[in-house]
This record gives sequence, C-alpha cells and structure tokens, in this order.
Amino acid sequence: MSWQRIRTDFRFAIITLFSAVTVLGVTPFAVYRIARGQVLAGVIDSAIVLFITLAGVYVWRGGNIDRASRVTVAAYTAGWLMVANLVGLPGALWIYAVLLANFLLVERREAVLASALAIAVLMLSPDVFADANQRITFLATTLVVSLFAFIFASRTETQRMQLENLASHDPLTGIYNRRAMERELAIAIEAYRRQRTPYGLAIADLDHFKRINDSSGHEAGDRVLVDFVELVAGSTRKGDRFFRLGGEEFVLLLPGTQAESLQVFCENLRERIATQLSYENERITVSIGAAALETDEDAASWLARADKAVYQAKHQGRNQVVVHSRREADADAAPVM
Ligand code: GH3
Ligand code: MG
Ligand code: MG
Repeated sequence: MSWQRIRTDFRFAIITLFSAVTVLGVTPFAVYRIARGQVLAGVIDSAIVLFITLAGVYVWRGGNIDRASRVTVAAYTAGWLMVANLVGLPGALWIYAVLLANFLLVERREAVLASALAIAVLMLSPDVFADANQRITFLATTLVVSLFAFIFASRTETQRMQLENLASHDPLTGIYNRRAMERELAIAIEAYRRQRTPYGLAIADLDHFKRINDSSGHEAGDRVLVDFVELVAGSTRKGDRFFRLGGEEFVLLLPGTQAESLQVFCENLRERIATQLSYENERITVSIGAAALETDEDAASWLARADKAVYQAKHQGRNQVVVHSRREADADAAPVM
C-alpha cells in the first residue's frame, strides 16, 4: 500500500526519496570525514542521516506527513549549517539540496524562512569563503535557486488546490459533490462520537423533475437546479454543508441540529421552495427526508434512514417533510402482543 502511495501522495514520495538519497549520498561522507579525522563533521553527517531515516520510517508507518516534513527540513538546514561552518565551502555547496528539500516539503512561508535563515547565517560566517567573489557568487546562486524553487512550489500548490476543488465540487451548481459528502459525514460521525455534537441530515429530491426536462429541455432543467441551489444556500446557516448527491437529489448536513429543530428547518425550507421556486409559471416543489444522527450509527445507515424518509414523503403525495426516527421505526416494526 505504501508503494502505491508513492505514486499518489507527492510529499510522501519526496520524503521517501530524500531519505533514500540522504542515506546513500551522505553516509559515505560521514564515514570519509570520520576516517579523515573530521570527527565532529562526521558525527553531524551521521545525525542528519539518522533524522531523515527516522522521518522516512515514521511516514512509512503511517505517521503525520507535516511533522515528518518539518523534522526533515530542520535536520537538513541545521545539519548543513554546522557542516558548512566546520568544513567550509565543500560543506556549504550542499545548500542546493537543502533549498530544494525546504521548498518541496513545507509551506512556502516556512521554506522561505528556513532558507533565508540558512543563507544569512552562512553569509555572516567569517571562515567559509576564501574571498568576496566566492561569497557574492554563493549569494547570487542560492537566491536564484530559491526563486526557482519558490515558483515551482507555488505552481504545484495552485494546481493541487485546483485539482482538489475539481474533485470535491459539482460542476453545474458549484456546491460540494457526493465524494465531499462522504468525507464530511465521516467527520460528523467522529465529532458525534467524541463530543456528542448533534447532527441533522436532510435529503431533498425535486418533485416531478423529469417533467421539466421533458417539456422544456435539459438546459431548462439545469437552470432550475441552479436556482434551487441558490435558494437553499440562502436558507442555510454558517457551518451547514450542502451537497449534490446526483441528479436532482441534494443533501444538507446540519451541525447542532436535533430531531425537533430538524423538522422545523426542513418544513421552512420546503415551504420556501414551494413558494419561491418556479419555472415558466409552474411552481416547483421538493420532498424532504431527514434523520438526526443516532448513537452508534454509521454513515450508510444514517443516509439510508433519510432516504427511506424521502421515499415516504414521495409516497404520501410529495411536497412534504418526513423525519425518520429509529425509535419510532422500531416501535412500528415491533410485533403487537
Ligand atoms: P419524483 O417526484 O418521483 O422524484 O420524480 P422525478 O421526475 O423528479 O424523478 P426521476 O428520478 O424519475 O427523474 C429524475 C430526472 O432528473 C431524470 C434525469 O433526466 C434528470 N436529471 C438528472 N441529472 C440531471 C441534470 O444534471 N440536469 C438535468 N437537466 N436533469 C437531470
Ligand atoms: Mg430522484
Ligand atoms: Mg425527483
């Protein structure tokens, strides 16, 4: 599974790569320096190898990538500064690897800070450079490499955000999609388990939507979906989440909402749609099925209960709200003695 992750998780792959390269590339220097009597530099090299190896093992065992990235950047930067001051220019030239590690692994702001600090400290060291020419060339090349690394990191970050946005949003209405919903439901269930935060879930299914498509065309149907989303989004509170489940079915996730307030909220929403949503003078209505999260319930069962309630609302004549309760359902199902 971790081999698979190398292809899909950029920072995981980078930490793995840096760990492998450091073990293979720096270990010979550690041995060489110790053998040449530069014991302190050799020990620092060994410490860098150790820290990066630990960070690599840690992420391979499922550890937090942010933490491992920061440890790697700190170990590289601090270790490099010490080696550069001890052995001079041959040590200082490793800065290009350090700069790349910084910009590839941590947030741009942190990378700029670590890199600027490293360059500044070395520029102030009296013994590293033979003359002013070396010092200025070092400054110019490190700044150019940092600038390129910064631009690359910015572009990667923008593309990552665009991809994440595409993967979690519905292109027609701009709200979250089913994939995002699954993630949010899992978060809600976790919050309920830990802090008993109540959550309401409502599925809204437009009534006789197919008729709009059939009579006025698919584009007209699309416009109604967009109008519906605008209307619902205007009725929700901060913190509520709104998803398109697919087709003309939508889900609202309402933190802090118990069964009774869920009923009131859904009823208000249903009425608002029935009075304000229309197409070519035809009123459009919605059937809503809802369920408040119950103890020891998983996402599939929670969704299934809300879905059952939608089905019931449709069955009872549409343009209605049904809130499902496990207790009532169990009571209905119990045999009469
Ligand atoms: P009910 O009241 O029982 O829910 O009836 P309905 O017509 O709303 O439900 P049904 O499931 O029979 O039809 C849903 C229709 O929604 C069928 C499909 O063509 C249409 N649909 C699904 N996705 C889209 C979309 O993205 N745009 C448009 N315009 N129509 C869509
Ligand atoms: Mg439907
Ligand atoms: Mg429908």
